[in-house]
Amino acid sequence: MTTTPARLTVLAGPTAVGKGTVSADVRARYPQVWLSVSATTRAPRPGEVDGVHYHFVSAEEFDRMVDDGELLEWAVVHGRNRYGTPRGPVQERLAAGVPTLLEIDLQGARQVRETMPDARFVFLAPPSFDELVRRLVGRGTEDAEERERRLATARVELAAESEFDHVVVNDDVTRATDELVRVMGVVPA
Ligand code: 5GP
Repeated sequence: MTTTPARLTVLAGPTAVGKGTVSADVRARYPQVWLSVSATTRAPRPGEVDGVHYHFVSAEEFDRMVDDGELLEWAVVHGRNRYGTPRGPVQERLAAGVPTLLEIDLQGARQVRETMPDARFVFLAPPSFDELVRRLVGRGTEDAEERERRLATARVELAAESEFDHVVVNDDVTRATDELVRVMGVVPA
């Protein structure tokens, strides 16, 4: 059951904690949740589809979206590419009573806390720092310099846990997803 308007949920957490995997699991098993599609200036990875995983835009198009106030929040992530949440689709879904999930970085979560303080803020935490490092290296899609950059970001991001309303430990994807949707109020607690 949903209320109108629905509340927004923001899922954040350190690099490689599995935010993308958990949000993909939400998409697969909880179609009643709408996942925001971010705009990004980064290039697509193999298998990523424009308009599904991200809106892949040029730096100029991203500038235009910022200038025109089209983004609810945006940030430079890992000191490299820009990522942002298109505002219009989020507002439309919330107004229609659709439970809405943003999977964004910590800087973005802080901006949403300023503009939409009634949102729920959920921190996805690794079982341990060592496990986080193992996942970060194991993914193998980034070069050594990029991994080191992401690890440095992760150390800072882990310290932010206390800023969040709820902490979900990603010890098991299915379990973590189920806990997230209970926190969202999509399924009974
Ligand atoms: P990736 O490049 O691996 O898909 O994502 C890198 C990081 O960007 C992840 O931590 C992800 O949460 C973050 N991210 C994705 N979309 C957005 C967005 O719209 N806004 C912000 N602030 N971060 C985002």
